[in-house]
Amino acid sequence: MARIKSVGVLCSGGDAPGMNAAIRAVVRYGISRGLKVYGINRGYLGLLEHDIVPMDLSSVANIIQRGGTVLRTSRCPAWHRKSTRKRAAAILREHKIDALVVIGGDGSFTGAMLLERETGFPTMGVPGTIDNDIQGTDDTIGFDTAINTALDSIDRIRDTASSHDRLFIVEVMGRHCGMIATYAGIGGGAETVVVPEERHRLSTIVKKIESGIKRGKTSSIIVVAEGRAGGGMGELLNRQLKREGYNPRLCVLGHTQRGGSPTAKDRMLASAMGAFAVDCLLKGKSGGMTANQGKVMVYLPYRKVLSGRKTLPRGIHDLMSILAN
Ligand code: ADP
Repeated sequence: MARIKSVGVLCSGGDAPGMNAAIRAVVRYGISRGLKVYGINRGYLGLLEHDIVPMDLSSVANIIQRGGTVLRTSRCPAWHRKSTRKRAAAILREHKIDALVVIGGDGSFTGAMLLERETGFPTMGVPGTIDNDIQGTDDTIGFDTAINTALDSIDRIRDTASSHDRLFIVEVMGRHCGMIATYAGIGGGAETVVVPEERHRLSTIVKKIESGIKRGKTSSIIVVAEGRAGGGMGELLNRQLKREGYNPRLCVLGHTQRGGSPTAKDRMLASAMGAFAVDCLLKGKSGGMTANQGKVMVYLPYRKVLSGRKTLPRGIHDLMSILAN
């Protein structure tokens, strides 16, 4: 591959705090290495509509602390068609863009992988999703902020739960992956965490509540991941516990977990990943994602990233059960 002279950057799929820090890193690091950098608004959808703007150092000033994404993001059903991806490569070339950085989740990476495989257009993925459900990377951009946001809410709910001797169910995000629920549950001292990776047994939850009551506990918090339907697990458990004679209160945190100013950890991760993605492209490496493993940043081919789902580390879930006793 000839050395690239320009790079485009877009965000795709769900937004996550820290995406702006990643955009800023792509722009400023790219410019420092002599590249022209283009921002593509509204993800793949904006690309198809030529919504492409040149970026300079000041176009990313004063954004690192802001949640969401200044380039905005979208879902683009048309991208599922091969003919659309072929058209997209032609548009990128027409704008004299040599390579593309895609900040998003596994759906966006599937789209980028197909684009590259079918048209030869070089891409690099940067994992930006609050769920931390992407295989091969310890962290995704936005996860740390999301768990801290959830934790803040759980702490507040704890105050009212203990003042009123109440049982609370707190539903957090996570369709397939219980990372947010588990981290926020451990951090918030929850009595039980319900995750989509495991079948939830009402009898086990009831036993936990009862053993707490026997020890003199007057309040309990159960943290529940939203589940595969994209919500509703909290309500289901609420109904089940009501049938068992309890009077729980349900609090669905919903989209509050997506927004907000990114934590220091997310800003640092996003900055390092954005710069690393540009470095990979400059070295002729593409068709993969930036991943942090321990203290090092590595390149991982999409096919490895997309070959499975990240699983909840067994040790963490066991720790949760022990500490909640
Ligand atoms: P995320 O990237 O956060 O997982 P989505 O799954 O919604 O979010 O995917 C974002 C976009 O990526 C989709 O709207 C679509 O344009 C593209 N995409 C997702 N899955 C595929 C696929 N299987 N083939 C082609 N493009 C895809």
